[in-house]
Amino acid sequence: MLRAERYRHFIEYFSTNQPNAETELHYGNPFQLLIAVILSAQCTDKRINQVTPAIFRDFPTPEALAAATPEKIFEYIRSVSYPNNKSKHLAGMARMLVEVFHGEVPSDINDLQKLPGVGRKTANVIASVVFEAPAMAVDTHVFRVANRIGLTNKAKTPLASEKQLTEYLPAETVRFAHHWLILHGRYICLARGPKCETCPINWFCRYYEHNHTEAALRRAEAAKAKKLKELKKKKQLDIIAKELKKRSVDKDI
Ligand code: SF4
Repeated sequence: MLRAERYRHFIEYFSTNQPNAETELHYGNPFQLLIAVILSAQCTDKRINQVTPAIFRDFPTPEALAAATPEKIFEYIRSVSYPNNKSKHLAGMARMLVEVFHGEVPSDINDLQKLPGVGRKTANVIASVVFEAPAMAVDTHVFRVANRIGLTNKAKTPLASEKQLTEYLPAETVRFAHHWLILHGRYICLARGPKCETCPINWFCRYYEHNHTEAALRRAEAAKAKKLKELKKKKQLDIIAKELKKRSVDKDI
């Protein structure tokens, strides 16, 4: 199947079945989403949703968070991954919002990346979710699932994956595709043990085509038979070598 066809099926399937896919992080405004996304690096959304209500309650504005020390913030996020770094990032991010961006979350991806704790992925999430920009945030799920389905080809880095996805997807679809891929990766196309047999999109998935179709099974059977034949041959050669060695020892005696 051509890559363009896979894209067409991907868009058709998800825009029909998950037209309103969105982030599972809880937030009430751009500042709160920024906090949640910074915290979510290497951590689950479920865990982040457990700690953010207290942060949002006690630090409702960039000014309030900017006035807090990293040690104080640490108390709120000690149960998430990398709490030391993240508490420093949150304090630094709030200070920069106040001092440089007039207390507003910037919409520009380059400006967003100037904020402590904000890399390209986080900047793209904010740009797409808050400002509805055609920005593709590539996290581990997006990277893996896009590659398995065959939307990306030989993309070695998240940036390469992002470039291919934004090149092929219509601009108005990019921000939804991000959530489609994340949710599919989180619940069906798992890193270990993807649920291919029950996956609703297996009929246009490259990974499925290569690993589960009849042709793929025949290939696997043929490879197994070849391997067995090689092993058998090696075993016979070992027996002959042993026999020859034994004969030469008998002769010497
Ligand atoms: S068929 Fe398997 S590899 Fe392909 S998208 Fe579905 S779960 Fe992932």
